[in-house]
Amino acid sequence: MKVRGYAALGPGNALEPFEYDLGLLGANAVEIQIEHCGMCHTDLHLVNNDLGFSHYPLVPGHEIIGTVSQVGSAVRSFREGQRVGVGWNSGCCGECEYCAQGEENLCLKWEGTCTHGFGGYASAIRVNRRFVFAIPDGMDSAKTAPLLCGGITVYGAFHAYEVSHAMHVGVVGVGGLGHLALKYARAIGCEVTAFSTSPDKEAETHRFGAHHFVNSQDPSAMGRLNNSLDFILVTVCADINWADYLGVLKPKGKLCIVGVPPSDIRVPAAHLILGQKSVCGNPVGSPSLIREMLEFSARNGIEAQVERMPMDQVNEAPGGGTGSGHPDQLHGGVELSGLPLCVQLDQAYLFEPYRGRRGDGHIREYGVGTRDHTIPLARTGGDHGGFWAAAGSLQWRGGFSSWRGHRGSLRRQGRDFG
Ligand SMILES: [Zn+2]
Ligand SMILES: [Zn+2]
Repeated sequence: MKVRGYAALGPGNALEPFEYDLGLLGANAVEIQIEHCGMCHTDLHLVNNDLGFSHYPLVPGHEIIGTVSQVGSAVRSFREGQRVGVGWNSGCCGECEYCAQGEENLCLKWEGTCTHGFGGYASAIRVNRRFVFAIPDGMDSAKTAPLLCGGITVYGAFHAYEVSHAMHVGVVGVGGLGHLALKYARAIGCEVTAFSTSPDKEAETHRFGAHHFVNSQDPSAMGRLNNSLDFILVTVCADINWADYLGVLKPKGKLCIVGVPPSDIRVPAAHLILGQKSVCGNPVGSPSLIREMLEFSARNGIEAQVERMPMDQVNEAPGGGTGSGHPDQLHGGVELSGLPLCVQLDQAYLFEPYRGRRGDGHIREYGVGTRDHTIPLARTGGDHGGFWAAAGSLQWRGGFSSWRGHRGSLRRQGRDFG
């Protein structure tokens, strides 16, 4: 079966249309026609080989939702036409102590959806049934896709460290992971405090479920919280003042990290010793926990806030990119239609052209990211910027003020592209 995907052919490269064959259907395989795929910060790391284990061609995408189109001969638990999801993990050894106790995500021989195969920025994928999940009825596919990595990462942290309704929980950062963490902590029943460097995020954090908001750059506000929280989840990928947050924890409190900061973490040992405090982390979650997370999310109405990029509507984008507006010439043969992406909001993401409008007037590359860090998404042939027109037509809703510095350029780009 032929699959149309988008692959980076080398570290940091733009994603290019890439076709491949899935070969014979394995006995345990579930074949999925992909309808939505979230965009996770880790996809960005993988494209750039920041983590050191990328292989190219690399088709990113591990927050997949789609419909089962075929199942292998040993698969009884899924049927054709069923809506299912796939997250970060796609394989394990099946024999080690972690696999045996249902913690496949900790297996040392783990396999990743887009590290040991071609991922979700594609028309279809085949995944071992053990790592395929039924999506509860009533959940919105686009808003559920990011739960399969972002959601389970924060839900899994609360589960792993036994966060209970009686606890006071802090969430550092209000991006893709952070806004989900606020929702889960609130739904668990915790008292929830959001920490952010941006005071103008306060209203939004309350909407996501925070009882309290603390400007983490205000030393007196941080000081007032000393020895008061049971658990703090750090969702930002930044070097923060670790000592301040350890101070905010009660004795025996845990500082749990799910975002990768650029530098090693340095903490004062006295906090760890005197208060028996600990620093820990969490990687996604096991298949059984993903099932639980999906049920919990459905029951509590938890979904991710996403920006949708409906690629199948790109031809109708206002102005048709550069304004020339010839839908039939879109993408110079690159078929994007039928591959809607939902994009997870994250502190690191921003829609803007991939390193500006590049090229010779015939090839242009488009992507999402920050000024320093971009995931290229598509290269269009001809002088038509249809793909970017779709991105440029997205409305900036504000609130994630770490992007503030970029809003001007975003608006300018919107105008440039009609
Ligand atoms: Zn991810
Ligand atoms: Zn194993």
